[in-house]
Amino acid sequence: MKKTVTTLADGRELIYYDSADDTVRDAVDPRPLDAVSTSSEIRRDPLLGDSVAIASHRQGRTYHPPADECPLCPSREGRHSEIPDTGYDVVVFENRFPSLAGDSGRCEVVCFTSDHDVSFAGLTEEQAGLVLEAWTDRTADLAELPQVAQVFCFENRGAEIGVTLGHPHGQIYGYPFVTPRTEQMFRSMDSHRAETGRNLFDDVVARELADGERVVLEGEHWVAFVPYAAHWPYEVHLHPRRRVPDLRELDEAARTEFPQIYLELLRRFDRIFGPGEPPTPYISAWHQAPFRAPGREEFALHLELFTIRRTPGKLKFLAGSESGMNVFINDVPPEAAAQRLREVASE
Ligand SMILES: [Zn+2]
Repeated sequence: MKKTVTTLADGRELIYYDSADDTVRDAVDPRPLDAVSTSSEIRRDPLLGDSVAIASHRQGRTYHPPADECPLCPSREGRHSEIPDTGYDVVVFENRFPSLAGDSGRCEVVCFTSDHDVSFAGLTEEQAGLVLEAWTDRTADLAELPQVAQVFCFENRGAEIGVTLGHPHGQIYGYPFVTPRTEQMFRSMDSHRAETGRNLFDDVVARELADGERVVLEGEHWVAFVPYAAHWPYEVHLHPRRRVPDLRELDEAARTEFPQIYLELLRRFDRIFGPGEPPTPYISAWHQAPFRAPGREEFALHLELFTIRRTPGKLKFLAGSESGMNVFINDVPPEAAAQRLREVASE
């Protein structure tokens, strides 16, 4: 893998990750961009104790790419996108309009491929492996920034969940604090340790494997299951069998097997609702240990993949109970979801 770090016209960082070690990336961004000015502000909710990022810097945009021109496709003669070169394998750059910036963290965009019309599920194993390298390398680089406490790599896929750019891409957030979900997992982990003397994640994975009813897919180094108390209609948790706190600690064997397992999961997701249905909207979310949290070695890196679609044409909305009270109502029993996800395995 070859990594090339460069800067865009407004000073944002852009990083190419190429499969071929002899790739040269020296294109310069010729666009007349003003320097990025961001003023995102973190406000703490006194009742809930959680944080809200108030991003008020969206005015002042000076560069509007025409709607029919994708800013994530490579540049070509007379048509300059966010990526100066005329081709790329995987590329990461700082978001021009970030929700978190400066002392308040960092937001990056990851383009999974230069091919506008493919989805992640349509990538080759080599391409998916390169994306994993990019996620891992970004986690390592962001770990060095004092303002970043936790790194979140994720993909939103589908117009139903508000994705406006069709180009296959994901995002990386470097939060300046430990997120509420992660804090909650740490609390559960600590009380489980106090009560049983064991690691919570190890016990959860062991229980799913022993039960078997909700297991979706098993590899030599990874296991995927629908959790016992799934919140979403179709939700899968993917764990490496050897527990590690973050992407940097995955061993070579797990890295090598990951593309095969993850691509199969994504392809099954697209088949859940049968042929003729539009691609399944999904959120794919990497959970990693915060960098400086006590007990981080106990945390289990894992990926949570879920869709908000319940049945063809019907979405799960976060309505009164979910949005008002944080109580999820799930109409699809986790065992039925797991069975469906086994039925639609690739042949
Ligand atoms: Zn594109």
